[in-house]
Amino acid sequence: MTHVVTLNSGSSSLKFGLFSMQGDEPEAICTGEVDRIGSPAAHIQATDLDGRDLIDETSETIVDHHSALDHVLDLVVRQFPGVTISAVGHRIVHGGPDNDGPVLLTRDSLKDLERFSPFAPLHQPFNIAGARAAMERFPDAVQIACFDTAFHRNHPWVNDTFALPTEYYDMGVRRYGFHGLSYDYISNHMAKTAPLLHSGRVIVAHLGNGASMCGMISGRSVGSSMGFSALDGLPMGTRCGQLDPGVVLYLMEQKGMSAAQITQLLYRESGLLGMSGLSNDMRTLEEADTPATRKAISYFNFRARRELGALAAVLGGLDAVVFTGGIGENSSLVRERICADMGWLGIELDPDANADSARVISTQLSRVQVMVVPTNEELVIARAAAQICRSPSNCSVSELEFSSHI
Ligand code: AMP
Repeated sequence: MTHVVTLNSGSSSLKFGLFSMQGDEPEAICTGEVDRIGSPAAHIQATDLDGRDLIDETSETIVDHHSALDHVLDLVVRQFPGVTISAVGHRIVHGGPDNDGPVLLTRDSLKDLERFSPFAPLHQPFNIAGARAAMERFPDAVQIACFDTAFHRNHPWVNDTFALPTEYYDMGVRRYGFHGLSYDYISNHMAKTAPLLHSGRVIVAHLGNGASMCGMISGRSVGSSMGFSALDGLPMGTRCGQLDPGVVLYLMEQKGMSAAQITQLLYRESGLLGMSGLSNDMRTLEEADTPATRKAISYFNFRARRELGALAAVLGGLDAVVFTGGIGENSSLVRERICADMGWLGIELDPDANADSARVISTQLSRVQVMVVPTNEELVIARAAAQICRSPSNCSVSELEFSSHI
């Protein structure tokens, strides 16, 4: 085999990569992103192995995910005419209760995965559309799904359930947890670069437009802030995060809101955008620095601190905290506020290292090591695709059978 394309679709973005599979570890020869899909300001950007721009332009013709994917695949074929695409690896946000690793995709299994779209409406429909378009475009390539839920599939039962009658658990109403590809990358990275910490108790804060935290012991997830859907836990760019279910009943019964209206409110109009009234983008909020943006950032940090404390209790203590995702990797302000006055938990930040977004941002005396590690979900997808292509018997399409209740 020669090359793998990775596709990672969000509601208004499409991240992609082209990886060479010649060596043991996949090597990115092109990475890029289309963002603001569907708006007149849609933008496509890609760089090659040496960081040189291959494209960096706004395009009014990127009107939906299909046309975004066409642009990406045209770019790959134009810029790398000699390469053979043997596999396309897809980030699929929701894999349901049974998938605890990557699988080969078929048209039938894709249809099956549609049943999870209502649990992740900002991602799953676009993930599936991307896989269908890639099947058309590269009919001879194998298509591989990497699920964000898979990393959390072996949670202890208490972290996996809600206090509902057990038949709801059996029908798949569970705490799935998300951002698994990012956590998988961080876990692997720590195993190689900080094996002692990796074998201990670690909280990873994936703070981006989507945000969650994961508690790990020996590199395996034991608890996550996200639950059944990608709504729970921390507030996000446009999602509300933790919410009393009584609020939903109130909105339905007293305010007459429909399910579609509540979905729109909780997924697309809440979080940083809803609280600030300005933007879902943390950098924009930090720069605006108005009373409303300060309140939105305060709530974001407050919930992150609560979740950090709760996960530390689940882990029975703490050895390391890792910040990742666009906010976690870049916002020294958010990291500083989340870690402020956490000496009781053994966390002491080094202000200079934090301002520099250094790899280790805690002081030498801090009992808990605090780190900044850029995530790389594309590499996790490419590794899975390479492994499956090298030994397809590791994985079969028949694994894609789901509980008929969902
Ligand atoms: P992601 O979804 O991981 O790409 O992260 C996107 C989020 O990261 C957005 O809210 C950005 O505003 C935020 N972000 C990126 N760079 C910075 C920065 N330098 N300071 C604050 N927030 C940032």
